[in-house]
Amino acid sequence: MDNKSIIDVLIETQALQNGHFLLSSGKHSKEYIQCQKILQYPKHGIYLANLLINKLRPLNVDVVIGPALGAIHWEVFLALALEHVNSDIIGIFAEKVLIGDETVFQLRRGQKIEPGQNVLVVEDVVTTGNSAKKIIDLVLNLKANPVAVASLINRTPDLIKFNIPLISLLDIKLETYDPHECPLCSQNIPIDKPGSSVIKA
Ligand SMILES: [Zn+2]
Repeated sequence: MDNKSIIDVLIETQALQNGHFLLSSGKHSKEYIQCQKILQYPKHGIYLANLLINKLRPLNVDVVIGPALGAIHWEVFLALALEHVNSDIIGIFAEKVLIGDETVFQLRRGQKIEPGQNVLVVEDVVTTGNSAKKIIDLVLNLKANPVAVASLINRTPDLIKFNIPLISLLDIKLETYDPHECPLCSQNIPIDKPGSSVIKA
């Protein structure tokens, strides 16, 4: 592939969408980046993962983990890119489980992180960073080392989100609204919930 940027790929795949969206953070937005429009193409996924490889190589990653479902493809592409650095690397995903009114992330399906492993937490799009923070907590509870968060897109670059490095391919500021002050809600525009899946425990 030519020397493309993520912007070229966003445009080519029509991943940047306009409408009225409910984000997994609970906020509303008139723009949404549907990364699956990009990541459904292995050629784009592998290409974009390799753009981060120089930053990720020194981290000695043992495990790549992302929240299901949105980050699953990205997690696999990053694990594939890093497989050249560590042939025993694993790529796994954490699932959102609703316990009472709280959602927590759990490892299911026999997936494991061992104490002391270096863990790269990945997200397709970081907005509030809440999902990644919950996964960082999961990693710490398992006595492993979260080494960085790697995302395709950081939607709120001025917010400090983590106490580990955030490595993002693209910082792009898209406006979000609290539901009670959303201009699209006040125009009664129907809302679309494009992401997120929760298992009821
Ligand atoms: Zn709204």
